Amino acid sequence: MLTFFPTPYSGEWWYSVLCRYHLRSGNAKFQTTIRELFEGGPRAMIGAFFPNNTIYQLVSQLPESFDFKSLILEHTPYQYYMRMYPLSQKRAFLEALCKEEATAPTYIWKTAGGKNQPLRYCPLCAHEEVKVYGESYWHTLHQLPLVTACVHHCRLLDASSEALKLNEGFYMVPTGSWKTDSVAMDSPEVLLAKISREYLVTDIEVCPTQKHIL
Ligand SMILES: [Zn+2]
Repeated sequence: MLTFFPTPYSGEWWYSVLCRYHLRSGNAKFQTTIRELFEGGPRAMIGAFFPNNTIYQLVSQLPESFDFKSLILEHTPYQYYMRMYPLSQKRAFLEALCKEEATAPTYIWKTAGGKNQPLRYCPLCAHEEVKVYGESYWHTLHQLPLVTACVHHCRLLDASSEALKLNEGFYMVPTGSWKTDSVAMDSPEVLLAKISREYLVTDIEVCPTQKHIL
């Protein structure tokens, strides 16, 4: 059992919670934290965008207030990628994930963001979070493949010049650069960000057509 673990913020990606744990742990090496979190080997797929068995392994070390399904629904892109599936299939797949029996569909891990692209953040969100919480965090929404702007009407920034090896380390949102590039409120970029957000956060029971509720 871990002696502490950060409470996820609203819209925070699961990987980001692990990054904040690493920062607070005071561990000098990434591998020390990975061993602490996953009780064993020096490797774990912590940077996978679609939920995987690292959540399952970790939740077993956390207090009961950390609910596995809520973590998947609220802190991973599960709902975004499963939105078009029939409700029965979404629920069945969620149950399978909870029993560590499911793996991500191939088309998702081949096309999903995260490890294939630099992490993205909104400077306005980050600035606000530092003022309110004293730290900023990675948003699931900002890592979705087609999202390039925040609902703040501001273009997202890449956190690094190239994709980082997320499975090997914990990286925090850069601080100190709040330079913003505004995007017109009615631009396709902002519209796409808003639609993507709906796909991500709308209740699991909401499906595109009545036919999907089977
Ligand atoms: Zn923002």
